[in-house]
Amino acid sequence: MAQKSLVALAKEATIQESVSRVFDLLGGVTNLIDEGDSVVLKPNAGHAAPPESAVCTNPEVVRAVIREVKKAKPGKLVIAEAAAIGCNTMECFEVSGIAQVAREEGVELIDIKSDKDLINIPVRGYRSNIKRVKLPRFLLEADHIINLPILKAHASMVFSCALKNIKGTVQDRVHMDMHKQNLTMSMMDVWYAVRADINIVDAIYAAGGFSPHTPVPLKVGCILGSKDPVAVDRIACDLVGIDTNQVDYFKAAKEAGMGNPDIDNIEVVGEKVEDCFTKMWVPYVGDMSSRWPEYDVRCEGACSSCQALLALSMEKLKAIGAYEKCRNTHIVIGGKNDLSDIEDNENLVLHGNCTYKYLKEHPGARWIKGCPPGEGCFYLTVSEGVLHDAQTDEDIKHQRHQLEVHEPVWSSYVYAEADKFYEAQQ
Ligand code: SF4
Repeated sequence: MAQKSLVALAKEATIQESVSRVFDLLGGVTNLIDEGDSVVLKPNAGHAAPPESAVCTNPEVVRAVIREVKKAKPGKLVIAEAAAIGCNTMECFEVSGIAQVAREEGVELIDIKSDKDLINIPVRGYRSNIKRVKLPRFLLEADHIINLPILKAHASMVFSCALKNIKGTVQDRVHMDMHKQNLTMSMMDVWYAVRADINIVDAIYAAGGFSPHTPVPLKVGCILGSKDPVAVDRIACDLVGIDTNQVDYFKAAKEAGMGNPDIDNIEVVGEKVEDCFTKMWVPYVGDMSSRWPEYDVRCEGACSSCQALLALSMEKLKAIGAYEKCRNTHIVIGGKNDLSDIEDNENLVLHGNCTYKYLKEHPGARWIKGCPPGEGCFYLTVSEGVLHDAQTDEDIKHQRHQLEVHEPVWSSYVYAEADKFYEAQQ
């Protein structure tokens, strides 16, 4: 029988107490880290978002981890991040509040994006097209990498936690390559190259709703920890009611033999999940084929990533007032659909690499490249009636502009929907 993965769950009166308890439950910080070791903390500071948005790791969680790690007397302790494409890492550190904590605690901040000392290392047994990956020497040579994700809903992954946070260790070029293929597989490949040895999850305020761009923070009040990123992601999902059967990442992890996604192979220590359970609004999961009856939605064989983007896009069409105008559009995601009855090719939108094959029989359709495609592509392709696949700088610029224009109505729409959801829970 496979060895069980240990996941620690704490909900103490303060963040520091919860972080210390999680380290204790994992064996104690001085047993995990030797005196003189070099330690890299990898928070999620991928966007320039303030702490109250719950988009980046809470700076007080980062502070608590710094203070806990210092008990082991590390030789070197740094915080490192490569922010999302188009974002400035140092600005993200500042806006998230992590830079202020780093200054107060005397810890150096490193922008991985501007690091020049890179090693091009092979990914053994790679599953995506990422055969080699360039990573900073300091990261590869560190004695410990402590992964510090925040738990949040995510448009192209359903949720984001430990595994996804490791995407923030690569520079923009690799980051872009990851988005051009199967994102889950490429994240696992990067994980195999980086391998954080401790994961501490910030679930003090988790971000539900249409996070990461329109998060609706929810107080959960917990810290989780594990050496196994898949097991801790699994328990984090259970904690806020995300149905892991509907998230392909766990199936992919199982196939890849990475971590323990099965509850039978996980031992939770500390608090019980049911005692801390807090239902979060995650509109990226559930039945997609009948949710928007005004449209012809076909999603046989679609991964949860494309389903999540479908949910985001359809709700965006409603928010910007384009939903009625575009009704009856044929929308196809996934590679197991029967389109033999569709003759109106101009009104057909194919979403994702696995729908490319339908172009042969439906040459006039709008095919959006990507696995999954970018977050703005789908709703702009439908609402504007022309293809937007973010494959050119011009289109990326156009999408950024439109997202900015639509932001106010979209935010109001999301908060109103969140109110409805949480009121119905009471
Ligand atoms: S494009 Fe196809 S294979 Fe890729 S994430 Fe979407 S549904 Fe999955």
